[in-house]
Amino acid sequence: MKTATQSKIWLSSPHMGEMERSYVKEAFETNWVAPLGPNVLGFETDIQNYLQNDVHVAALSSGTASIHLGLKLLGVGQGDEVLCQSFTFSASANPIMYLGAIPIFIDSEKETWNMSPELLEEAIKNRLRHGKKPKAIIAVHLYGMPYKIGEIQDIAKKYQIPILEDSAEALGSYYKGRKCGTFGEIAILSFNGNKIITTSGGGALVSRNENYKDKAIFLATQARDNAVHYEHSEIGYNYRMSNVLAGIGRGQMQVLDERVYARRKNYEHYFKQLNGFEGISFLEEPYQMSSNRWLSCILTPSYEVREKIRLKLEIENIESRPLWKPMHLQPIFMDQMNFSDGTSEKLFKKGLCLPSGSNLSLDDLERVTENIKTALK
Ligand SMILES: *Cc1c(COP(=O)(O)O)cnc(C)c1O
Repeated sequence: MKTATQSKIWLSSPHMGEMERSYVKEAFETNWVAPLGPNVLGFETDIQNYLQNDVHVAALSSGTASIHLGLKLLGVGQGDEVLCQSFTFSASANPIMYLGAIPIFIDSEKETWNMSPELLEEAIKNRLRHGKKPKAIIAVHLYGMPYKIGEIQDIAKKYQIPILEDSAEALGSYYKGRKCGTFGEIAILSFNGNKIITTSGGGALVSRNENYKDKAIFLATQARDNAVHYEHSEIGYNYRMSNVLAGIGRGQMQVLDERVYARRKNYEHYFKQLNGFEGISFLEEPYQMSSNRWLSCILTPSYEVREKIRLKLEIENIESRPLWKPMHLQPIFMDQMNFSDGTSEKLFKKGLCLPSGSNLSLDDLERVTENIKTALK
């Protein structure tokens, strides 16, 4: 039954399982509200076991903090150039600025919507010609779709530039059967409130090199040297995850596979109902790639059609959102160098993210698709 004030359908809202509350309760009962406690170590172990491939994990206060420390560990400092995917959320790029480094934005290709290997190599060659060797590459698995990992890695290897793998949106995605978050020299995860699983706020730094984990934890806990008093020979940060929030994370890890399954089902529903309808299309999975479908996105024929759908959904109390606005078009980054061919700009103008939470019902999904069809009739 349709009523005038139907309940709000959110883009991507938190979805708790059975166990989160008991881990948090245990933190209270044992007074491990602070400082660091067993949930943090447990959460790190849970992530390591999930990702496999001998990774080491440091649980931190956010994905952004993880990128900040990750770049620092890769040696990025004042005046260094960092190659960053343009089509992403600003948090991928902001930490470059925290370090006084210079971002150079790289456009996307059409098959994954992520960093174009061709433009990446063009940018590297350009910088080398100017006697500047980029210090790092930030590649992003946007909306959960893996970037062209093999090709990007080959280029990184050829020019000996380390990759920071921004896997904030891609926990539960695969490339050639191996989980995203295990490919970069350093990778990062986010557990922000809208991500596939959440600790209300949090992140992690991941690496196969245990030294990076140890150094990240050292920097994240105020860079305290080994002494009875407080001794410091480096600038530190307050970036460690709290034991209470890690308790939520432990519970969420138990339902992660279910959450991925539910989001992929959302995508399938939208695809079946809308693919080809009035020119709507989807980003399908390239060979050997599996997306967690963090957000289900559609491409429409034009900006006008995109807006028609978005505004109709808004009236119907359904949240949707344009795709990320590329960094090279953001006022704050407009003056930075970029290597672009218009791909991400087109995606931004024509694309829309549909409600994608793992807690959506079939009724919710049908309400979304019916309203989109109505908007286009
Ligand atoms: C969410 C997100 C981040 C930042 O993570 P926070 O935990 O919110 O700081 C970084 N990169 C991408 C692509 C993201 O989506």
